[in-house]
Amino acid sequence: MYENIPDNPYLLLTPGPLSTSKGVRAALLRDWCTWDRDYNEEIVQAIRRKLVRLAARQPEEYTAVLMQGSGSFAVEACLGSVIPKDGKLLIIANGAYGARMEKMAEVLGISHTVLEYSETAVPGVSEVKITLERDPAITHVAMVHCETTTGILNPLREIAGVAKQYGKIFIADAMSSFGGIPMDIGEMGIDFLISSANKCIQGVPGFAFVIANRARLEECGGNARSHSLDLYDQWRCMDAAGKWRFTSPTHVVRAFLKALIELDDEGGVAARYGRYCENHSALVEGMEHAGFETLLPPEIQSPVITSFRYPAAHFEFNWFYEAIKERGYVLYPGKISQEDTFRIGTIGEVYPRDIKKLTEIVWEVMQ
Ligand SMILES: *Cc1c(COP(=O)(O)O)cnc(C)c1O
Repeated sequence: MYENIPDNPYLLLTPGPLSTSKGVRAALLRDWCTWDRDYNEEIVQAIRRKLVRLAARQPEEYTAVLMQGSGSFAVEACLGSVIPKDGKLLIIANGAYGARMEKMAEVLGISHTVLEYSETAVPGVSEVKITLERDPAITHVAMVHCETTTGILNPLREIAGVAKQYGKIFIADAMSSFGGIPMDIGEMGIDFLISSANKCIQGVPGFAFVIANRARLEECGGNARSHSLDLYDQWRCMDAAGKWRFTSPTHVVRAFLKALIELDDEGGVAARYGRYCENHSALVEGMEHAGFETLLPPEIQSPVITSFRYPAAHFEFNWFYEAIKERGYVLYPGKISQEDTFRIGTIGEVYPRDIKKLTEIVWEVMQ
């Protein structure tokens, strides 16, 4: 069916952009008029409805807003539009993406405080409670779900629960987990969940989205610190008739609808999670056989991306990276400050057989 769509020269084991299916890439191959029903209703609104149903078992209470740009644009739109001028944000951070939220709050002039952990430590419920009790000015709490910096899976349910218990609004950066790890934002008490087209839904890059509690979003008019990144205005415009305020990334949007249909065909989020877990298990088993060890213990490790320690002080990552790339796989350099590591993503159009093949190649290259 997709004979004319070329194979990729290598498989991307980077957690975004990631390897996409031929079906998704084929969906890019036509132009769309943004004025008519065939785009606005049948693509944009269809996507928004599907996203809400993926996120919540009680979809009536939620709505989805799509935003041009990479994932960070949606994080910035969300922080900049949700927190009122007299609000205060608590950022719980244990990696680069938590630190990025801090930087955004700083640039946007949002009053904030940071509960910071090392890159391999899991945020604790009791410290969050203490922070909220000590500083009653805090109105909003934000945390990353899967910190892609290391692959650590933060306790989203527990921390969102504490935020709710103290009556705070909770914002989750679920960029690299939404669509790949089952979750119900209603049950977890998440008010705003942010993710993007090119992560676990397996679309191509170009836009991101926020799934919001409708009642909470309705309170956000006039908060925005940026005109283009005004989440509330974008929502008002899009909710009315599926129109984006400014130029819509049409091809990417159409490909994303195809990616959502393929997620359904695979069996939904639970089935995709199962495949990612199998990918991850195959990866760890094969890499350990080739002489590598994981940075994180299994209890706090996500199936999304895995960090491996350099096997020896003289290990030349650049040489290793090139050798593996020549053989068809692209790895991901490390991003953490405290140790020499590199990362391998297991999301995207990637299957356990691909991972087994990769680890055989790693074993050969290491000989
Ligand atoms: C990918 C990612 C982002 C967004 O990164 P962009 O490069 O802007 O797409 C934000 N948070 C997390 C946890 C991510 O994995």
